[in-house]
Amino acid sequence: MTSIKNKLDHSQKRIAHAAKNASRSVNEIALLAVSKTKPSSDIIEAYQAGQRLFGENYVQEAETKINELSKQYPDIEWHFIGPLQSNKTKTVAHIFNWVHTLEREKIATRLSQQRPKDQAPINVCIQVNISAEDTKSGVLQNEVITLAKHIDGLNNIQLRGLMAIPSANVGEAQARLELSQLQALFIKLKVIYPQVDTLSVGMSQDLEFAVEYGSTMVRIGSAIFGARK
Ligand SMILES: *Cc1c(COP(=O)(O)O)cnc(C)c1O
Repeated sequence: MTSIKNKLDHSQKRIAHAAKNASRSVNEIALLAVSKTKPSSDIIEAYQAGQRLFGENYVQEAETKINELSKQYPDIEWHFIGPLQSNKTKTVAHIFNWVHTLEREKIATRLSQQRPKDQAPINVCIQVNISAEDTKSGVLQNEVITLAKHIDGLNNIQLRGLMAIPSANVGEAQARLELSQLQALFIKLKVIYPQVDTLSVGMSQDLEFAVEYGSTMVRIGSAIFGARK
């Protein structure tokens, strides 16, 4: 069995290699370790190997783990990357540092209202449905700026960038098209909102492609923690 530390090292090497191929600095690309469905002991193992950013998809599961870990490991940064319903915004506003999956004004407003005043504003990325498929989460490309404007008017939430899950198994041409559209949108958003610095895209299967198209944060689960049941 390969250890979590070895798999983390291997993922870091993949990122470094991809950055080099894209003539980018490896320091521009953060690694978010996606620990959904995995036990707190796996998170601790990754932490002890130097990992600090962790991504979770399910509010209740995340709440249990964060309660277990946050006292002893206060420098873990928790990122929510799952679908977010309005009845869960209060918990998310209390326990997470980031939300990657923002797609509705109402959710943005609630996160800002429910963020405790003694905490820094919660960081958010707008999730974009690049391929515009009905079944996919995220806003359409032409809706991004409107949602960004709404977020910018709120006090306790900070717009940091865009997030996407490109279509899987579509072939190289379609994958490149989607990533280049996402990158163009990210560049446009940065011009309007200078604090925008995060393009959250790339997973275990496709991180090399994502880094080529400007990803600043890859979200890696199975390549670090093993397959999920
Ligand atoms: C599960 C998940 C990941 C990690 O996927 P892997 O293929 O296991 O690397 C990344 N992003 C999101 C939004 C996820 O739900």
